[in-house]
Amino acid sequence: MQLSRELPFHSMYPSLHINLQNLSRNVQVIKNLLDGAGIETVAVTKAFCGDPVLAKVFVDHGVTTLADSRLYNLERMADIPARKMLLRSPALNEAEDAVRLADVSLVSHSEVAAALSRYATGQKKTHSVILMVDLGDLREGVFCRETAIETAREITKLPYVTLEGLGANFCCFNGLIPSFKDMITLSRLASDITAVTGVPIKTISGGNSSNVHLLMDGQNTNHFTQLRIGDAFLFGRETAYGADIPGTINNCFTLRAEIIEKQKKPSVFAGNRGTDGFGNQPTLEDRGNRWKALCAIGRQDVPLETLTPCDNRISILGGSSDHLILDIDECADDYALGDTLDFSPGYGGILSAMASPYVQRVYQ
Ligand SMILES: *Cc1c(COP(=O)(O)O)cnc(C)c1O
Repeated sequence: MQLSRELPFHSMYPSLHINLQNLSRNVQVIKNLLDGAGIETVAVTKAFCGDPVLAKVFVDHGVTTLADSRLYNLERMADIPARKMLLRSPALNEAEDAVRLADVSLVSHSEVAAALSRYATGQKKTHSVILMVDLGDLREGVFCRETAIETAREITKLPYVTLEGLGANFCCFNGLIPSFKDMITLSRLASDITAVTGVPIKTISGGNSSNVHLLMDGQNTNHFTQLRIGDAFLFGRETAYGADIPGTINNCFTLRAEIIEKQKKPSVFAGNRGTDGFGNQPTLEDRGNRWKALCAIGRQDVPLETLTPCDNRISILGGSSDHLILDIDECADDYALGDTLDFSPGYGGILSAMASPYVQRVYQ
């Protein structure tokens, strides 16, 4: 067991326990699945803030590209021997650092590629770009075929910038699930761009964990060459339908918090009631007098909605900035003041806990 850092005081909790063996297993299984379909695996590190301890697990399994949406996280991984991809288009003011810290960027505008080209020329370092095409998820990317071709044409004219590929993203805003048809659209567009520019398009970056179902169904994967996978590694599931990926493990992360109060109290209390600390009107169910526990964790650490108690006899009643309020009536004898409780965090829980200065990270 290895702690992420020494805190200047003795608070061990809340702590996020990261099971590197389970993560390693998921990386192996999912990378094999993609390898078998001839698809390159790009490992997305943003949910764990580019933590080098976790990033290394991917590289140890033969992943050659690490991708993150933030330059800060790419900087944390600078010493890890892998190609680095910037997933969120660099802002114009970030172009210089993007060239320094990343080898390839996802872009939607030729102006951004031109800014990259300017700094790449200065640094004498070729930078690759993948042009994002919006196939209906309505987040990033150019929306029409003509814009895609025109943008690609402008990018291919830039010095020290290579148009490496086309990319698409799914299940991030509109919840659009990628289909085989979408992959054909993308690869046809790549052929059209090659026809206009004479530049071959090497990479069709088909999407993220929501594309994995295409591989699990044994569908034809000839029309894309790469997936950028984050969530599936952490939870062992594809994200289009939420199906488990055979052979993976779904609990790589556990969040632990300490019980700081245990009292029997009424479930509701009548009076002149206003709002909770976040401006919401509380609706409490009357279940009589119940054993409750308070844990020393709150919204400043993680979004509490993303937590599931590992003991299924416990339910979360709510929480504020620094307190989590639990009903432990069904198992009150099993827990005492000072004990800890474990929770499974969802994607948003991991995202916040990994970024929080209040949460101790424990690698095991
Ligand atoms: C976050 C992200 C991914 C990874 O998505 P997962 O659902 O975690 O697999 C891939 N591509 C882009 C552009 C992203 O922002």
